Amino acid sequence: MHRLLEKDPWAKICAPGGKYYLTRNASTILAFAIGKNWKVCYWNSPAVDSDAKSVSHIQPGNPIAMIGAHTDSCTLRVKPVSKKQSDGFIQVGVETYGGGLWHTWFDRDLSIAGRAFVKAGDGSYTQKLVKIDRPILRIPTLAIHLDRQEKFEFNKETQLFPIAGLVAAELNRRGQSDHTPSSSTTEEEADYAPLKATTERHHPYMVELIAKEAKVDPSEVVDFEMVLYDTQKACVGGLNEELMFSPRLDNLEMSYCSTMGLINSVHSPSSLDCETAIRLISLFDHEEIGSETAQGADSNFLPTMVRRLSALSLKGSGEPDADAYEQTLSKSFLVSADMAHSVNPNYASKYESDHKPEMNKGTVIKINANARYATNSPGIVLIEEAARRARVPLQLFVVRNDSSCGSTIGPMLSSSLGTRTLDLGNPQLSMHSIRETGGVYDVEYAIKLFESFFEHYSELEKKFVVD
Ligand SMILES: [Zn+2]
Repeated sequence: MHRLLEKDPWAKICAPGGKYYLTRNASTILAFAIGKNWKVCYWNSPAVDSDAKSVSHIQPGNPIAMIGAHTDSCTLRVKPVSKKQSDGFIQVGVETYGGGLWHTWFDRDLSIAGRAFVKAGDGSYTQKLVKIDRPILRIPTLAIHLDRQEKFEFNKETQLFPIAGLVAAELNRRGQSDHTPSSSTTEEEADYAPLKATTERHHPYMVELIAKEAKVDPSEVVDFEMVLYDTQKACVGGLNEELMFSPRLDNLEMSYCSTMGLINSVHSPSSLDCETAIRLISLFDHEEIGSETAQGADSNFLPTMVRRLSALSLKGSGEPDADAYEQTLSKSFLVSADMAHSVNPNYASKYESDHKPEMNKGTVIKINANARYATNSPGIVLIEEAARRARVPLQLFVVRNDSSCGSTIGPMLSSSLGTRTLDLGNPQLSMHSIRETGGVYDVEYAIKLFESFFEHYSELEKKFVVD
């Protein structure tokens, strides 16, 4: 698999039969495999496979079989100035990201992970991924003896506020001095600093831990984006080990299943020999906060990628086909894969009586008359056919008319691309909790479904003509 950059000239790099990936902001990732018959009759590249068969009927504007998902989850993020202390405790200021079930974050063993920007010796700045692998933070509940409140209510600014240890212990570690690690910048550089150093804005020991993970000196950590996570590892559970208890199933489960579906579909060396389509996954950041960012699903990211891929139909003369982008869009299909709600036995009345998805009974097609989901009939028939061939079950979901409904990247991508789209996802409990519950068999079902979708799309596409 070859890494592409957005600034690369793709037409000179991409070739039929090739497999590629790229990222934007290092947080949204796109991966695709080009069929060996992708507009091969116009191809002007030495990498063309001379064995590619049945090319005579190939027209410009071939389809792209796409699965979209999101990589982000609700969390708490360390504030730009996070250093606080109160009543003998060290505390770290955090900001809510997305609509989390924040009460589940209390009394958990938390730590931080994210990226640090560090200054290299040559003056350049690079990103380092960091994960502090031990519990350093905790959001404490109040003992029931001190407040017998019926409902658990709290203020998100003042009470959803992690402690990070004791001031006394930290003074002890530093030999009783309140000395902050000094910066190693030279005198003339230190003349003017537009912002206080990270070691002043945050607790110095936290910056030291981040620097240690990044294998740099604390003074070289110029800035960072750190989010909180629960250090308890995911596990398989239930009497018969049929469940899994894990953070971030929404939506890493669908990110994982779509990635494995793509990998499995191109595993055999001959898998792309007769393929006229491109098989593509796009895993977006920022779904939980509305997707309206440069790397979110509501950006130009996927439309730009599709336009560039359709332009790979450059003729021998170097002239692009004027209509290739629109032709590709009209023949393509997007599966928007985001987790769905399993029925919760303690709240069964919250679900529409004939649409209660069950765990381990297959991936759920999400339908909404008001287009909170993009699913429509042609898509249902198509995905049903892909599921029939993979021999995996499917389920149907609508919300009650008197209930609110979530939404996802499907509607915004289908409106920006104009491509046929279907929303689906595996059933789970406790969506947006710090620890969610899913069914282990549904993982295998979704991978097989996605693999079948990729393998059969270019054949099925011709059978679903709705103009
Ligand atoms: Zn989601």
